[in-house]
Amino acid sequence: MIKKIVIANRGEIAVRIIRSCREMGICSVALYSDADRMSKHVMLADEAYNIGPAPSKESYLDLDKIVEATVACGADAVHPGYGFLSENTDFARKCEAAGITFIGPRAETIDQMGDKISARKSMIAAGVPVVPGIQRQLESAAEAEQVCSEIGFPVIIKAASGGGGKGMRLVRSAAEVAEAYTSAKSEALASFGDETVYIEKYIEEPHHIEFQILGDKHGNIIHLYDRECSIQRRHQKVVEESPSPFLTPELRQEMGRTAVTAAKAVGYVGAGTIEFLVDKNRNYWFLEMNTRLQVEHPVTEEVLGLDLVKEQIYIASGEPLHLKQTDVIQRGHSIECRICAEDADNQFMPCPGLIKQITEPNGLGVRVDSYIYEGYEIPLYYDPMISKLIVRATTRKYAIERMRAALDEYKITGIKTNIPYLNAIMNTPDFVHGTYDTAFLEKNEEAISTYRLGNHPEDTELIEDMAMIAAQINYLVMQEEGATTPAAAPTGTLNRWREFGKRKGVLGM
Ligand code: ADP
Repeated sequence: MIKKIVIANRGEIAVRIIRSCREMGICSVALYSDADRMSKHVMLADEAYNIGPAPSKESYLDLDKIVEATVACGADAVHPGYGFLSENTDFARKCEAAGITFIGPRAETIDQMGDKISARKSMIAAGVPVVPGIQRQLESAAEAEQVCSEIGFPVIIKAASGGGGKGMRLVRSAAEVAEAYTSAKSEALASFGDETVYIEKYIEEPHHIEFQILGDKHGNIIHLYDRECSIQRRHQKVVEESPSPFLTPELRQEMGRTAVTAAKAVGYVGAGTIEFLVDKNRNYWFLEMNTRLQVEHPVTEEVLGLDLVKEQIYIASGEPLHLKQTDVIQRGHSIECRICAEDADNQFMPCPGLIKQITEPNGLGVRVDSYIYEGYEIPLYYDPMISKLIVRATTRKYAIERMRAALDEYKITGIKTNIPYLNAIMNTPDFVHGTYDTAFLEKNEEAISTYRLGNHPEDTELIEDMAMIAAQINYLVMQEEGATTPAAAPTGTLNRWREFGKRKGVLGM
């Protein structure tokens, strides 16, 4: 059994992994950059080591430094979380070569499924329906035009190494092909160091529905049902839920079986996700596989009552799966909102900065996976996601109600967050009725801003302004009464309220 794990990540996911390690009696080791000295994962872990300057390239992405630190501290495994090195096969191989268990699938599987072209080939060979398109690299804009005329518009030109919605261009007519080809290629090169692009048919207004997979080292593979991830901005997920309100029970079972077929075809070991696109007629196609833990994994944990990080650790330790497919039953409903330090009124510009005050929601069915605290300064070097708010309830309707109340309760001052924006989503009819697809945010732009301006002007800025006004009034009242501090006028302000109450008959005095 694994005894000591290095967490090669930061933020909420590092905190999340440390918590599972603690429950399991495993020693956790945090690695941190210079910008993260005061980060919560550093404080929570049993041990912590500095791995270099703030830019990720010089710290969280420096594989040699991380392997070196892992060997030096005597850890037997490394958990990469998501992002950073989680799908980097050089890293997985270097870990294995140094005798460290990489908590994830085999490096060959990451190679096979991490490249979208090679993943498409493997899935076609396994008989899994794949989004129509080509399985080779595009060599020129002219070839792109040729392929478009064969498969018909609209199409999407995509980076083979893509991720995070980058290196993707929607093309609706022949006139747009050359420009889309060139820009997708250069974005792919800049973001992933690989300019390989290919073409897929663009599925109009689809649902993004994914299935969680678990596979052990003994050939057992099960699925852990679905997550609906169609609330997206620029192809990046904003809100996720499980189960999907769109799937029928029959289709859910069928897609679950297909997901297992897909994972078996590559001998998958560990936790992974098979992503599908589902059109309005409920045709579905394999989109890609993520060979790691997903940001949205908590909604699966909530409806199944499982700890996916623990399962990952057991699998990496060589234990057979603890569950059979028939043991896996979805109960109730769960929703996750990604809380980001960004300005929804200013093109979602990241807003790092000092957190002045936080009131976290809690109560029945409310979970906050976060790494921020009062007085913490969010560094500008990393992802703007600062927290995930997850709710669970017996039905979807109750889960939405719970999420609205929890978002109302969640107060973060000092920085701008997308909390009011998320609350508006929770109150948009298409979301409430579960009748939405990946075009939701585009289609509902007006409904969302109308809601925000009309009903819920609870932006942090406003709260701060009100607090300032209240403090100023208090100060002026005290000055009028000849006192400079509240202690010097212990009853003055109170009496004033009493007077007011008496006059209005509010206090019944
Ligand atoms: P990434 O790896 O960058 O996350 P994905 O291939 O997973 O990219 O796609 C991200 C999102 O982009 C999908 O959830 C979907 O909204 C949209 N998308 C991708 N491919 C297609 C397609 N062929 N048709 C329609 N939408 C697509």
